Order: sequence, then structure tokens, then C-alpha cells
Amino acid sequence: MPPRHADAIIPPPEAIVVPTKRVACDGGGGALGHPLVYMDMGGDDFVECAYCDRRFVLDAHPKPENEYLSPAARPPEAH
Ligand SMILES: [Zn+2]
Repeated sequence: MPPRHADAIIPPPEAIVVPTKRVACDGGGGALGHPLVYMDMGGDDFVECAYCDRRFVLDAHPKPENEYLSPAARPPEAH
């Protein structure tokens, strides 16, 4: 049975990797929840939520959305 950490209830601010500079945050619900806000990183590659202190970090290698939206990118008879 793992020991309980009664003093570790408050987690450190999270760093969330996102593929775009424009992010939305609602605190994740629960005790840290807050109204949904939209943030833009502007010239930076990260932004911190003023409500819950979570940090959103821009993915260094964002995937182009076209890959997700193009199922025909792979020929059905590739082999
Ligand atoms: Zn937030």
C-alpha cells in the first residue's frame, strides 16, 4: 500500500504543450476551474494563464493541421 502524501494536495503549475499560439483555458474544472479564457502567445512561445497559473508552451514541432484533415494523403494501395 503506497504511503499517502497529505501535504502534497496543491500540485505545481502545469506546463502544457500546445500546437498553436492561440489557446483556451478553463482551469480544468474542479477547485482550480475558472471561466473559459482565450490567450495568444503573440511574439513569445509560451503564455501563462492569469487565472490558474498554468503555462502553455508552444510545441517546437507543431504538426500541420492538414495532415489530420487529409485521410487521402495515404494511397489505399500504398504497398
Ligand atoms: Zn487557466
